[in-house]
Amino acid sequence: IKATFSIIYDETETVSGFITVLNDVTEEEKIEQDRREFVANVSHELRTPLTTMSSYLEALTDEDTLNNPDIAPKFLSVTQNETERMIRLVNDLLQLSKLDNDENYLRKEKVNFINFFHNIIDRFEMNKYEQDLSFVRRLPNKSYWVWIDKDKMTQVLDNVLSNAIKYSPEGGTITCKVEIKNKMLQVNVSDQGVGIPKEQVDRIFDRFYRVDKARSRKLGGTGLGLAIAREMIEAHDGRIWAESKEGKGTTIKITLPMMHQKRGDA
Ligand code: ADP
Repeated sequence: IKATFSIIYDETETVSGFITVLNDVTEEEKIEQDRREFVANVSHELRTPLTTMSSYLEALTDEDTLNNPDIAPKFLSVTQNETERMIRLVNDLLQLSKLDNDENYLRKEKVNFINFFHNIIDRFEMNKYEQDLSFVRRLPNKSYWVWIDKDKMTQVLDNVLSNAIKYSPEGGTITCKVEIKNKMLQVNVSDQGVGIPKEQVDRIFDRFYRVDKARSRKLGGTGLGLAIAREMIEAHDGRIWAESKEGKGTTIKITLPMMHQKRGDA
């Protein structure tokens, strides 16, 4: 809080009063500080792949390296991966800035969440992964109606499921569960992966926060997936959080308001 204190004198120069103006600058300062930190993070995140690309490309300007069939394709593939990661990063940043600026950004419609979620899990199950994984579905055989933007919610669940896959061990099981709790729809995605240290579990939803930076980069992460997920879920008046045990696994929990159910709808 900033306080300005003034003394008021009358014509005879005797004190006739005081004025105190209290200004709450802490909020303003915090926003400004967050903004600066964000810009610094973005610059750093963009500089890392650019520096990598620059050094690999420079190496390729050497004719021997360029013509070496054991090296050149590998170096090109590194620059390709870094380019792709940068594209993902810029796309994620655009998403966040749209969420920040446009309140009418969501196109909500009535959706049966159970069918919707089955389709998303189907898509993940069809993909082939390097590790051997199985999906378990605990979805009730009913219709649970929600009022959501399907594209945005797809993105949220994609981010959560791809994290579960990324951090799962060989032979791991990913469990997807939907239930109604306190009149809200609750979605849980659990994995048996590395887990997250207790003191960091709430921070993983912050922009650019990663438990293991090097590992996240290697897996192609941007550090923005869960920050985007949180903004999107909050824009739907829901909540998202994580519960985790190191070495045992992580559960991401999401709640969403249910639509009023007509009798016979379920
Ligand atoms: P990233 O692109 O790094 O995956 P996210 O915003 O999606 O960024 O996640 C932030 C961080 O949270 C990750 O870097 C990772 O440290 C941690 N994290 C997210 N999901 C899981 C999970 N299922 N198991 C363990 N750690 C996770």
